[in-house]
Amino acid sequence: MNQVRYQLELLDFVSHYYRVTLEVTPCSDEPMRLRLPAWIPGSYMVRDFARNIQAMQVVNHQGTLPWHQVDKQTWQVVHGGSPFQLSYLVYAYDLSVRANYFNDEIAAVNPAACCLEVADCGPLSLTVLPGGAPEHWQVATGLTRAENTAPLSFGEYVARDYAQLIDCPLLIGDIAVRSFVVAGVTHHHAVVGAWNADYDRVAEDLRRICDTQRQVFGELPADLNEYWFLTWVVDKGYGGLEHRNSTLLLCNRFDLPNPRAPEQLTDDYVTFLGLCSHEYFHTWWVKRARPKVFSHYQLDAEQYTDQLWLYEGFTSYFDDLALVHCGLINKQRYLTLLSETISRVERASNQHRQSLRASSFNAWTMYYKQDENAQNAVTNYYGKGSLVALCLEAQLQQRGLSLAGFMQACWQAYGRNESGSDWSLLAQILDGYTGDSSLSNLLWQWIDEAKPLPLVESLAALGVTMTSRAAINQQDVSGVKTFVVEPRGFGAWYEFKPEGMHISAVAEYSAAKQAGLMAGDIVIAAQGLKLSETSWREILQRTAADSPIELHLFRQQRLVCLTLPAEPAAATVALLQFTADQPQVERWLGN
Ligand SMILES: [Zn+2]
Repeated sequence: MNQVRYQLELLDFVSHYYRVTLEVTPCSDEPMRLRLPAWIPGSYMVRDFARNIQAMQVVNHQGTLPWHQVDKQTWQVVHGGSPFQLSYLVYAYDLSVRANYFNDEIAAVNPAACCLEVADCGPLSLTVLPGGAPEHWQVATGLTRAENTAPLSFGEYVARDYAQLIDCPLLIGDIAVRSFVVAGVTHHHAVVGAWNADYDRVAEDLRRICDTQRQVFGELPADLNEYWFLTWVVDKGYGGLEHRNSTLLLCNRFDLPNPRAPEQLTDDYVTFLGLCSHEYFHTWWVKRARPKVFSHYQLDAEQYTDQLWLYEGFTSYFDDLALVHCGLINKQRYLTLLSETISRVERASNQHRQSLRASSFNAWTMYYKQDENAQNAVTNYYGKGSLVALCLEAQLQQRGLSLAGFMQACWQAYGRNESGSDWSLLAQILDGYTGDSSLSNLLWQWIDEAKPLPLVESLAALGVTMTSRAAINQQDVSGVKTFVVEPRGFGAWYEFKPEGMHISAVAEYSAAKQAGLMAGDIVIAAQGLKLSETSWREILQRTAADSPIELHLFRQQRLVCLTLPAEPAAATVALLQFTADQPQVERWLGN
């Protein structure tokens, strides 16, 4: 076997460079290929991390060695069988949880995006050096510390193999840590970049969430010895990426709770907790129980699965559900979150065009590369997948079962031993759990057909009545409103700038589409008045309900005049209400 030791030095935060050095001991004299992944598991898009690699050098004890580049992400070294050292610079300025970032406040390291893979390799070590980083910085990661490395310190970390190395991001900076225990396993919450936040409260809330998610599967994964929530706080940002024993999270500066307001539960904090809940659920659901095709990740090109509706959609269902189950939000607040998801999914015409299976399969080029037509063409396997989970929950609850019971059955069947899922196995597990095949047939229809889901009936079975009201605009997704003037239909996504209303997307079957509006149009006037947020609102309210509205706009600098037809706004805001204090609500959402 080849042997490799990695060294990562935080070289320069002003120009955002790491220097990575590999000490390689080859096991033969054959030329060696070294490769960087094109994508990182959990984020299904080819990102070509190798484009950030520069200034490669290869030397051994005698001097420079010959090497050449084989393709965009593969290098070959002729070493003659003796140990050699390969080093390069990595440009690290991608503000996301999927790559590398280094400035004067933080270094976020994803080994998948900076450590070249040496094939046929034994256990690895990664030594992290502070280099040009400020002195008081610390290191938080799910990697195992070498014996001589103190907790949260720079120094040597070890991994069993390359797969484990690239599954362990590192969060480096001025770190605040709180720890808590779930079922005997220590969990840590490490934060960089926060500003006067109540870390103790966050730790206690995370503990409750983790324990609730553990109960869904009945146990923690047997090999989970420690878990790290790595939270990177920025001015504006949102995202998370799941790993086997950690998650790297990105959130807004003031999402974390205010220590002076212990009773306050802001929407931003609920969103943050939902994100943590989501990524933690993945510890079982996609990191261990996963599509068969992901048994071995193939990281040089796309790897297709039609099951993301299951692994992302069901995770999205259980993320907010855990918040109500552990009592962090009440049932009413949960219904509001659910109604927002329903409104977004139901109003998008994409669900008539793309099935969940197709959306999953094409995630690489469609969901992850959304353009102005995505609302009409690309089904969201997170949102609609979570509603499939809801409909399945309703069916199971009616049989005296639960979706959590099905998740446990999956975990026992193929999660614990990580043998992977395909449709026939999933159908077999569901049939075994329910005692017949009617539900797996129904589930197949939901994911294979581009059709709306039976939400009204499903919610009724869970003790919830669903009605709807007119939407004021595309961002309007929840809450009861009474209107003095009935809203008019428009159906475009837009943003106001000083020169007017910038149209970013137009919905099929909308008044905006009938008028002939296109993405990229800049609407400058309506009914002869210059357009602003205020004038637009007033024009919509004051124009007679049966009168069209004249629009003037620039399209590619051409002045165009269009007529917006008179039609009432579509009723696409879902309103949910508990039918009564019914036993099924308690069975579903807890006491
Ligand atoms: Zn996810």
